Amino acid sequence: PELWSSEFNDFINKCLTKDYEKRPTVSSLLQHDFIKQIEGKENVLQRQLMEFIDVHQQMGVTEKARFERIHTKKGNYSKSLVSNQEDVDDLATLEVLDENTVTEQLQKSYAKDQIYTYVGDILIAVNPFRNVDIYSSQHSKLYIGAKRTANPPHIFAVADIGYQSMVTYNSDQCIVISGESGAGKTQSAHLLVQQLTVLGKANNRTLQEKILQVNNLVEAFGNAGTIINDNSSRFGKYLEMKFTCGGTVVGAQISEYLLEKSRVVHQAVGEKNFHIFYYIYAGLAEKKKLAHYKLPEYRPPRYLQNDHFRIVQDFMNNSFYKSQFELIEQCFKVIGFTLEELGSVYSVLAAILNVGNIEFSAVVSEHMIDKSNISNPVALENCASLLCIQADELQEALTSHCVVTRGETIIRPNTVEKATDVRDAMAKALYGRLFSWIVNRINTLLKPDKHLSGSDDGLNIGILDIFGFENFKKNSFEQLCINIANEQIQFYFNQHVFAWEQNEYLYEGVDARVIEYEDNRPLLDMFLQKPMGLLSLLDEESRFPQATDQTLVEKFEDNLKSKYFWRPKRVDLTFGIYHYAGKVLYNASGFLAKNRDTLPADIVLLLRSSENNLIRQLVTHPLTKTGIAIVVIFLLSFSRDTGHHPRETTSMKTQTVASYFRYSLMDLLSKMVVGQPHFVRCIKPNNDRQANKFDKEKVLVQLRYTGILETARIRRQGYSHRILFANFIKRYYLICYKTNDDPPVSPETCAAILEKAHLDNWVLGKTKVFLKYYHVEQLNLMRKETV
Ligand code: ADP
Ligand code: MG
Repeated sequence: PELWSSEFNDFINKCLTKDYEKRPTVSSLLQHDFIKQIEGKENVLQRQLMEFIDVHQQMGVTEKARFERIHTKKGNYSKSLVSNQEDVDDLATLEVLDENTVTEQLQKSYAKDQIYTYVGDILIAVNPFRNVDIYSSQHSKLYIGAKRTANPPHIFAVADIGYQSMVTYNSDQCIVISGESGAGKTQSAHLLVQQLTVLGKANNRTLQEKILQVNNLVEAFGNAGTIINDNSSRFGKYLEMKFTCGGTVVGAQISEYLLEKSRVVHQAVGEKNFHIFYYIYAGLAEKKKLAHYKLPEYRPPRYLQNDHFRIVQDFMNNSFYKSQFELIEQCFKVIGFTLEELGSVYSVLAAILNVGNIEFSAVVSEHMIDKSNISNPVALENCASLLCIQADELQEALTSHCVVTRGETIIRPNTVEKATDVRDAMAKALYGRLFSWIVNRINTLLKPDKHLSGSDDGLNIGILDIFGFENFKKNSFEQLCINIANEQIQFYFNQHVFAWEQNEYLYEGVDARVIEYEDNRPLLDMFLQKPMGLLSLLDEESRFPQATDQTLVEKFEDNLKSKYFWRPKRVDLTFGIYHYAGKVLYNASGFLAKNRDTLPADIVLLLRSSENNLIRQLVTHPLTKTGIAIVVIFLLSFSRDTGHHPRETTSMKTQTVASYFRYSLMDLLSKMVVGQPHFVRCIKPNNDRQANKFDKEKVLVQLRYTGILETARIRRQGYSHRILFANFIKRYYLICYKTNDDPPVSPETCAAILEKAHLDNWVLGKTKVFLKYYHVEQLNLMRKETV
């Protein structure tokens, strides 16, 4: 048959009319001669047809799923029409979707090593905490261009649908991975990148290798051992894979946000500093270069002293660290960093460790002003030499500060406390900027070659590996940013689930106005509105030199007239927010400083005088702000009409973290509807990192946090039960018919049963009965009576 004949097109267009009432059902579509002719013949044709149906997005996911389901009945792996009793790959096909069924189904699959499950088009991944043999190159091949129902649910299938949609619709895609720490987000991101490089058929192996190395490299600098996860990402990451319009991978770009810089100077009990510090110690010791980088060989530098390591030998002899060092050095080289750059990176890292060793002692001067002195000049000398600056100038910058009053510059001494703060601020800033520099450098080295991509506007798939919602004993600015970002993602997710749900209603011809759900937009407004939103207020207060964290909290209290905000006690710095995932108490201590995110001017000026190229670069070009705003850029980046990146506007450079953040979020809200997101929700089955242990309660809480149960909730508020006519009649015909009757499978039969049961407010779709949960209770009761 001529699949693309005009006759065929007319037919399809009729099927896809926006007037849903007039649409033929999928089954009548499948009855059509064209389809009959191609059925079971050429897969290519079937796939083309499906793609064609897809292009007309009005059809939406539901119809596609149906089409797939009907067409895979013959396949080996067929899980068509499922009921609640069987195993299910897609929980959204369940007649009932509630907390219990979801957790039970996940547990069942998990017990069989089936760690992936779909809820509609969302992928749930339960961390197996052991190697499961499902990522081989055979598996990778299995999922290329395959129908979703042809194989068990898999992360590779998400890569595939992202890739296929990108190529088919010529549009950018994004994959949002979320979940709590240790749930498997980073691992999922790796697997996606891996599969996307396969799909993108990088025609040069070097590029493929480079892209695969990126994660290793940034993780060495951005990950650390925490109590929860030995390899915990301490930053958010948004990785974009760049493709030509034809789908060949040509490069990658990475954005980082909210690096937990404070970890450089302090780690909680049982936690470690960023991996790279231990790696360089072991690696440089092996190369007999510790002295060259002025790293102490006996007592560990203060920043690395914690309960894990008491003597330097502890890291020097660690063979894992040694091999990691080799690996990282190799990554640097493969990606294209020069040896000179590498040397400078080590120098900065060593300088940071030496900065941490500088100690201060109090000096009481004749004017009774608290002054401080450096009590261990060796550390100062080492640090200055590594940073290629003058030691006496560094001493000045740490122990005093300039104040400009009425045009006059006055030098004021720093107390020991203040000097210590400046020291730590310097270490944190150096590390943060080094990290951004490395990321920027990677981006330059992996920028798509114009020759390869053909033009500027290739396509891309972004992968966001974001921290989940956080609620600790003490929550600070970082948690607030993370939670706002999650709030935003949740909003986005709701919209998505809502649209999905709406599709089903539209397909079935059911009035979609009944769908209601609790919108978190009012809360987002409380954060983002101008000029009275929380972030605006924070910014305004950050501009007053006299402001304190106390005045900030008072400002919040006076201005945020919202039921989502409260202050438990008038006196302290605590305030609470009712987030979608629960209430969180924040402590505003340090909010202003963290929002201003400034390094003392004296230190900046001094570092600008460095003889070392890299160090000068770290302080001269204000590297793009690493605010949480990047969370948002991923959403912007797949809407084709974004115009320019908000990060590139000059005015952004002087802004605070909060204002930058808000700007991007607002921009986002207006553009969000465009584009196609894919969601991967990672679930941690237990707190002990144990294989084969499924803690139901723990999983349930995460399902709530990650919004998977949102689907269930939205459903419950609409018609919680949808039952295919045939199943409905089989189950309930006794209410209206006799045992030996064989009523036809039709909407009329269903209506007869429902009327006999004296129920109202139910709806008949094209293939299903739509019921409220109380209808089902009533029907079950009546059925019992008839038996
Ligand atoms: P997150 O980024 O969410 O904090 P990670 O991706 O670092 O979590 O995963 C934590 C640990 O869980 C990994 O180091 C790995 O041991 C294990 N893990 C996660 N996903 C998988 C997987 N698909 N297969 C096997 N082990 C996994
Ligand atoms: Mg991670």
